Amino acid sequence: QKSTVVITGASSGVGLYAAKALAQRGWHVVMACRDLPKAEKAAKEVGISSDSYTIMHIDLGSLDSVRQFVKDFRARYKSLEALVCNAAIYMPLLKEPLRSPEGYELSVTTNHLGHFLLCNLMMEDLRKSYSVDRRLVILGTVTHNPDELGGKIPPRPDLGNFEGFAAGFKEPISMIDGKKFEPVKAYKDSKVCNVLTMRELHRRYHQPTGIIFSSLYPGCVADTPLFRNHYPLFQKIFPLFQKNITGGYVSQELAGERVAMVVSDPEYKQSGAYWSWGNRQKKDGKSFVQKVSPQARDDEKGERMWDLSANLVGI
Ligand code: NDP
Repeated sequence: QKSTVVITGASSGVGLYAAKALAQRGWHVVMACRDLPKAEKAAKEVGISSDSYTIMHIDLGSLDSVRQFVKDFRARYKSLEALVCNAAIYMPLLKEPLRSPEGYELSVTTNHLGHFLLCNLMMEDLRKSYSVDRRLVILGTVTHNPDELGGKIPPRPDLGNFEGFAAGFKEPISMIDGKKFEPVKAYKDSKVCNVLTMRELHRRYHQPTGIIFSSLYPGCVADTPLFRNHYPLFQKIFPLFQKNITGGYVSQELAGERVAMVVSDPEYKQSGAYWSWGNRQKKDGKSFVQKVSPQARDDEKGERMWDLSANLVGI
């Protein structure tokens, strides 16, 4: 029997290549995507064999859609062996916030709240698995961490005391800390929440369930479509900068391979870990468990994030 992995946002970039790498390792991949024809085309283009994947609809920017996805998944599959929370949007040029159907700011909804709900619901499916080795992996990024070179460029992430979440996160509120809308910061804040979510899942559920919870920074995958909403000139220069100056550049194939390793290789069976291959990529560089940012390793913040997010998603 094949193991089943759900990957969100598998229609491009890191998620697409992670789907390919896991299919090659013998997994059955459920590509959870918002644009089904695009996902189908992408899977064919990178050559994922047609008997090793299924595409299912999810819009992480809508909590109803996340719930519907879980229903659809359960109608087709008995259990789940791994969940990869990968989908994200980055909209640096927005002047005004976009909103989810619930009225929440859209990038934090897509990147964090949608995944927070999905993780909580799919714990049941992971628990039902026949396998002892079940993993839940959430994509992190160096920009969550101002202590590292790649995270020093302003604006810095700052969750404050979650004043925006506590006040309901609807208009006129658009930021987790309740301050003025800043789309780049919203992305970084959402990624801090991703790491906090992983650490809280670990603290709450690793012991009773045996599930492995982890995150990774796959490297700077500077030519994925994540940057499609940036200035065209940025999209040209950023990959060159990362390749030739910072040395942080990683291909989409290699980033996908790294996700697959964290999902399935025995070396990565360590719950609560945040994996990195460093900021400067060396040939055959080895991974290590990296310390996360002060905000992301703050257990009190983790608990507050958990309670307020649970309230916003209605669980
Ligand atoms: P891409 O933009 O290439 O891929 C993002 C994926 O998320 C796409 O499949 C996209 O779907 C999907 N997505 C976006 N919004 C939604 C939604 N509402 N519902 C469902 N799916 C959605 O980005 P990357 O591959 O670069 O990024 C993937 C992950 O890796 C992110 O979590 C990012 O933070 C992380 N990361 C990326 C780095 C980089 O340098 N690129 C570095 C470190 C981490 P669609 O195709 O329909 O747009």
